Amino acid sequence: MTSRNQTLFEESQRLIPGGVNSPVRAFKSVGGSPLFFTRGQGAYVWDADGKRYIDYVESWGPMIVGHCHPDVVKAVQDAAAQGLGFGAPTEAELEMAELLCKLLPSLEMVRLVSSGTEATMTAIRLARGFTGRSRIIKFEGCYHGHSDGLLVKAGSGALTFGQPSSSGVPADIAALTTVLDYNDAAGLERTFAEMGDEIAAVIVEPVAGNMNLILPKREFLDAMRALCTKHGAVLILDEVMSGFRVGLQGAHGHFGIKPDLLTLGKVMGGGLPAAAFGGRRDIMQCLAPLGPVYQAGTLSGNPVAVAAGLATLNLIQASGFYDRLTQTAKQMTDGLRASAAKHGIPFSAQSIGSMFGVYFSKQPPTSYAEIMACDKEAFNRFFHAMLDEGVYLAPSAYEAGFVSAAHTEADVAATIAAADKIFAGW
Ligand SMILES: *Cc1c(COP(=O)(O)O)cnc(C)c1O
Repeated sequence: MTSRNQTLFEESQRLIPGGVNSPVRAFKSVGGSPLFFTRGQGAYVWDADGKRYIDYVESWGPMIVGHCHPDVVKAVQDAAAQGLGFGAPTEAELEMAELLCKLLPSLEMVRLVSSGTEATMTAIRLARGFTGRSRIIKFEGCYHGHSDGLLVKAGSGALTFGQPSSSGVPADIAALTTVLDYNDAAGLERTFAEMGDEIAAVIVEPVAGNMNLILPKREFLDAMRALCTKHGAVLILDEVMSGFRVGLQGAHGHFGIKPDLLTLGKVMGGGLPAAAFGGRRDIMQCLAPLGPVYQAGTLSGNPVAVAAGLATLNLIQASGFYDRLTQTAKQMTDGLRASAAKHGIPFSAQSIGSMFGVYFSKQPPTSYAEIMACDKEAFNRFFHAMLDEGVYLAPSAYEAGFVSAAHTEADVAATIAAADKIFAGW
């Protein structure tokens, strides 16, 4: 019997490149045919064949209160009934700005956009406009959306210029990006010593979630803050994923590191397209229409997206919300680790807030090189076996996982039991 998922995928591939509207969805990394989803509720999603899965992808992060939370659905319905968009300011945008600046004190001013890519792209432009410098520093394995200057990988040898990691990115643009190793404070210090007066910005995921989950070392965060301050570079903390995931104050609140600019997305849109960047007032005042750095968006601050975001941000402020999520993620990673250990499988797992990582390596990796050294084939086997058991993990060994407030202890226990069954037959 052919599955509806497969039929839809075959038809989609005729009209949509790779059959998907964002590459990781195509299951290329894990092999096989992607699932087409029809519905989500709480911690679960259903595919086109009607099979239910416990969802640990959560639309890549936004669904922190679970799918179709009644408050969020109602807020969206109410907003939609008042008008889908005006391209003019609304009171809800002011409410969102007030809430973001209240929850995240490093935001003195904020602007809403529609995607994380827009937020980081503009934060870079703003940092360049503010400093009058061109060079940016990023770290290998961090993802900051798909704008040209950020689709860059390390060149050969230390202190070389970056090379495009995508065809279509001009080498001249990639050359303005220096790519360093995540968690390498000494490498960052050497680079600043060499070219500190050229560096407009350092952009980083303060908890990395796009090369699986990699936690930052304290000295790495401290070096970044101190060097940017010393050399007049703008520190951009990209919290599109970690913001409202690691905790209510994001990764920077968790670790107590103050950004000059901060980017947000995912959770703050509650599942609809809303994102933001903001930070120091003196920098944000360089933005048009106040200043010379241009940025605009027809759908920026869209009232329906803002309503979904506000409803979500209201729910996550409930007392104990993050304590529970942190507990859920920890319960899960502890259980998976114990099961793998029992069966003698080289495996590790860790979590921070509602983000978790599972690795087919003895220790959780701390760098891009270490994550690349994990057993990818083992992950792919595990991924498909879990899928058969009704557990939907991210379809790549290089993505973080997420729990939501809708995941119950029973869901976590079922997930661990599924893994235990797989590991027993490993
Ligand atoms: C998802 C992500 C982005 C890009 O956001 P989009 O909304 O997909 O454009 C940027 N930075 C980080 C850290 C992300 O996780």
